[in-house]
Amino acid sequence: MSFIADRTVAVVGGGIGGLTSALALAQQGARVTVYEQASALTEVGAGLQISPNGARVLDALGLDADSVGLSAEAVQPMAGLTGRTLARFNLLDQKPPYRFFHRHALIVLLADACADLGVRASLGSRIDDPSQLDAEVIVGADGLRSTLRSEVTGRKTDPFFTGQVAWRAIVPDTGSDPVARIWMAPGKHVVTYPLSGGALNIVAVQERSAWAAEGWAHEDDPSAVRAAFADCCGELKSILHRIEKVHLWGLFRHPVVQRLSKNNVVLVGDAAHPTLPFLAQGANLALEDGFVLAACLAQNESLRHGLAAYQKARLARVTRAINAANANARNYHLGGVRATFAHAGLRTISALAPNVFLNRLSWLYDHDVTAPNYQFAAV
Ligand SMILES: Cc1cc2nc3c(=O)[nH]c(=O)nc-3n(C[C@H](O)[C@H](O)[C@H](O)COP(=O)(O)OP(=O)(O)OC[C@H]3O[C@@H](n4cnc5c(N)ncnc54)[C@H](O)[C@@H]3O)c2cc1C
Repeated sequence: MSFIADRTVAVVGGGIGGLTSALALAQQGARVTVYEQASALTEVGAGLQISPNGARVLDALGLDADSVGLSAEAVQPMAGLTGRTLARFNLLDQKPPYRFFHRHALIVLLADACADLGVRASLGSRIDDPSQLDAEVIVGADGLRSTLRSEVTGRKTDPFFTGQVAWRAIVPDTGSDPVARIWMAPGKHVVTYPLSGGALNIVAVQERSAWAAEGWAHEDDPSAVRAAFADCCGELKSILHRIEKVHLWGLFRHPVVQRLSKNNVVLVGDAAHPTLPFLAQGANLALEDGFVLAACLAQNESLRHGLAAYQKARLARVTRAINAANANARNYHLGGVRATFAHAGLRTISALAPNVFLNRLSWLYDHDVTAPNYQFAAV
């Protein structure tokens, strides 16, 4: 018998993790309210790559991802200093497709489906203490700076600066092929990919010893990102020259929590396990979390067993993904002789065994939390 049918659930946070949890739980018969501190359920101004593991969740929830996402053809590592293409890894065979989304469009897709199922949205509601919520289950989907995390872990920890900053911008674009290009250079890299509706998403990352600004994101002068990549190739510089408005983010993290729930409070997404964006998995993991949480609560008879099953299904996987993202930071930013060897290796792999790259990621992209035989039991 399902524990979750007809239970009241409060989801704190209306990002991708919160809305996915809300939708999946509502589809299992829960009565869900989403509490979001912002006055609107929206996220503007940036793109998201959703790989097949996350896309399977969108499909299983009945969402039409093709209506807003752009199917990707390939990932192309580039030498940022020379502009040379180092490799091309074909994504066309991925099923479901690897896609590029406007974050805002993905949020709207999830939010509309939630509304259709009667999920209530309490906007402009900041929750600092879960005891103010009258619900049988409380989902902490309140992101990197989660206040609910300490309810679960029993201690307050501040996220730490990872030594990386990211500029994020969108520029108008027509005619770019649907390819994610990773322009790698010593101590920095840029990722570019097109979005539907004629736009190019740009994420430019640079290593820094400290984050000096107040807060963790602010609008920056476009000349700052151009100066950071001034030694790069002409093609990349001309892309960066098109930026008119840019935001700078300090990339912060905290360790993956070692328990995902306590009593009736359970964590999903960045609240539990923020990741560096170098494997493009934070939102994908949040999608998986929300789906698995709802399935675990539906396929177990008690909350205790359901939450134990959720933890069992998620901890090892998210930890592996986060460690892989950390390793990519090092690989993307090599300089000197090590870069020369690494780039030669990439060219060789791309020419002789182009499937090696995707085969190495099959544990990540082929993972299917929606499969009928997926393990949702507590023991
Ligand atoms: C530069 C960059 C690029 C990225 N690119 C990708 C990518 O291509 N693919 C990918 O999969 N991931 C990517 N990520 C990671 C991804 O953005 C995050 O992992 C994901 O958005 C986390 O979703 P979330 O719902 O857990 O948290 P959030 O998106 O942070 O949502 C949390 C929500 O909770 C609300 N909230 C917070 N506190 C409270 C409170 N106390 N009460 C009420 N509401 C509250 C917030 O307003 C917010 O709406 C990227 C990240 C960065 C920084």
